[in-house]
Amino acid sequence: MQITPIPCLTDNYAYIISDNNSKIVGVVDPSEALPIISFLNKKNLQLSYILNTHHHFDHIGGNAELKKLYNAKVVGFVGDKHRIPGIDIALKDNEKWTFGNSQVKILHIPGHTLGHICFFFEKEKAAFTGDTLFSLGCGRIFEGDHRQMLTSLEKIKKLPKDTKIYCGHEYTYKNAEFCIKYDNDNIDLKKQFEKVKKLRLNNLPTIPTNLEDELKSNIFLRCDQNDLKIKLNMKNQEDFKIFKKVRDLKDSF
Ligand code: ZN
Ligand code: FE
Repeated sequence: MQITPIPCLTDNYAYIISDNNSKIVGVVDPSEALPIISFLNKKNLQLSYILNTHHHFDHIGGNAELKKLYNAKVVGFVGDKHRIPGIDIALKDNEKWTFGNSQVKILHIPGHTLGHICFFFEKEKAAFTGDTLFSLGCGRIFEGDHRQMLTSLEKIKKLPKDTKIYCGHEYTYKNAEFCIKYDNDNIDLKKQFEKVKKLRLNNLPTIPTNLEDELKSNIFLRCDQNDLKIKLNMKNQEDFKIFKKVRDLKDSF
């Protein structure tokens, strides 16, 4: 299976996924139709599915046009049936859905929005995390609460360590600066920041990242770690309090 990031709007990524054997093609979170159409034309591909992680305009903006043009089916969370434009296939938490030769597990991960989901391609170990988990960051909490967001991140943390993470935005550089500010002697983080700097200097995507690196460097995934609690002067406090603190700090960063 091939996964290609397509930059959309200012800093969004849509992802074209194509199964070489079954010739099935999908797009995850098309913010806009045009860049997707250009790519499909260039590669002479037909679109079968539109996958949406959540209902925000910068993830569904291209749904209507792409659906009409290719007669593609829109796939999303059953709880968001009323606000995913053109939804045809409504999936539940933990449900498995078949894409070509791949099994896709749906993880309901509320917090950014109440109906946010992750598409986890099991055999390929590829997770589309939308605006819940970013590289070195996590999404803002708009509809859910901090408790829900932390639980959602913990669900993602349980995926296999070599899972590749495909998120909704290129926020990695700014996220790294924030992580460094509060986790400044984290060697893994420093290494990852150097990689990110090089990529961005050459205008290349920092995505995909992988879960193993994120577990070591993403401050939002480290709220259970004692060394971080000490750095924040919050020794012995529960993980949730650390997460709330870090999320609040990021909101005003
Ligand atoms: Zn969003
Ligand atoms: Fe977004």
